Amino acid sequence: NLSERLERSFKLLKGESKITELNIAETLKDIRRALLDADVNYKTAKTFTETVKTKAMGQNVLNAVKPGEMMVKLVHDELAVLMGGTSIDINLDSNPSIILIAGLQGSGKTTFTGKLANLLKTKRSKNPLLVAGDVYRPAAINQLQVLGEQIGATVYTEEGSKDPVKLAKDGIKLAKKGAHDVVIIDTAGRLAVDEQMMNEISAVKKAVNPDEILFVVDSMTGQDAVNTAKEFNDRLDFDGVVLTKLDGDTRGGAALSIRSVVDKPIKFVGTGEKMEALDVFHPNRMADRILGMGDIVSLVERAQEQYDEEEARRLQKKIAKNQFNFDDFLKQIQQIKKMGNLKDLAAMIPGMGKMLKNIDFDDDAFKGIEAIIRSMTPAERDQPSIINGSRKKRIAAGSGTSIQEVNRLIKQFDDTRKVMKMMTTGNKMGKMMGKMP
Ligand code: GDP
Ligand code: MG
Repeated sequence: NLSERLERSFKLLKGESKITELNIAETLKDIRRALLDADVNYKTAKTFTETVKTKAMGQNVLNAVKPGEMMVKLVHDELAVLMGGTSIDINLDSNPSIILIAGLQGSGKTTFTGKLANLLKTKRSKNPLLVAGDVYRPAAINQLQVLGEQIGATVYTEEGSKDPVKLAKDGIKLAKKGAHDVVIIDTAGRLAVDEQMMNEISAVKKAVNPDEILFVVDSMTGQDAVNTAKEFNDRLDFDGVVLTKLDGDTRGGAALSIRSVVDKPIKFVGTGEKMEALDVFHPNRMADRILGMGDIVSLVERAQEQYDEEEARRLQKKIAKNQFNFDDFLKQIQQIKKMGNLKDLAAMIPGMGKMLKNIDFDDDAFKGIEAIIRSMTPAERDQPSIINGSRKKRIAAGSGTSIQEVNRLIKQFDDTRKVMKMMTTGNKMGKMMGKMP
């Protein structure tokens, strides 16, 4: 991953008191190569490394700071700048606000339409109306209806209609009558950019004059994502980008390239198939992710949403005092299960990507663990250090597992405790980088 490679190349800088053109050349080459590997396009990578070079040159490498760390911070901050620096909200000023969704087929438009409606409903107290504008495929209309039902949002369709312009206009009329303050118009996409698709969506744009046009793109498509973004932007002059499928292995390089090629902000990222798997785009966090550190802040935020605040505070205190026990662990497992797809979540934890390769994550992933914890007495759960050999034997028998499995869980628990303590006490980038192997 990128940060490992950077770390490695930074080793070259160790022992140098100043960053100079000579001693940084190899590092810059590595940064560029790493960016290219993360799907950043060539021009962007080149400009980027030149900026980093200018900023790095001549900086004093203080004794206290490792040059590597300093470079990581520099690269991190520059990545964030390249992605726009700050988050940019969508325009919801009008009533109703009209949001048009564009993108290729399979990019995730319909899913995003549902996710956005869900977010607007739950976090911004809006009452969105969804327009099923992919009129050619009955399955697409049905898909949006199912999502609408799931999140409790109204979906507007017209039986047998093949006219997305009329549908959009009628939808807006209905929204005004039905006190919907946002209208989200899903549209048809095709597998590649073509005239008919562009004409159609341009016509919808012209007819409804949207407050916000969001271009949805699959982040796993790498360089194609950039080209598609450019073509859509040339025709539609959209207002923002939605990067989908950022769960899994994608490193997010597309975010960098798209921002620098079309100069439009990325506003949301999709991180899973569920309706909750949508995050507001934060350049800082994406920079973390590109560097391979995982998107901790988003993870914590999502976890907290599902939490009762007080519980979270209580837990935080316990973690800080190292009093986190098996009962808390069990509660956490229940929380994680509630939060949705485990893989979506786990992919956001630094280093987890690698570990996950060997683990088959399904909803039963915690079964064994839960059984073991439930076989512990309250005293054992509260104070795991008292669990000796005979207790382990009893727990193993009670939970239908083996002593090895009990041992493994206790070890995992200890490790988790350490990581948690580190996350709550040392959330500074420098500290984290310092602790990376
Ligand atoms: P559309 O053709 O642009 O409307 O795309 P859909 O919304 O139908 O999505 C295509 C496929 O991608 C569906 O199977 C979705 O469940 C899936 N999908 C959409 N967004 C995400 C995402 O953020 N992560 C993952 N893993 N899958 C997604
Ligand atoms: Mg669709």
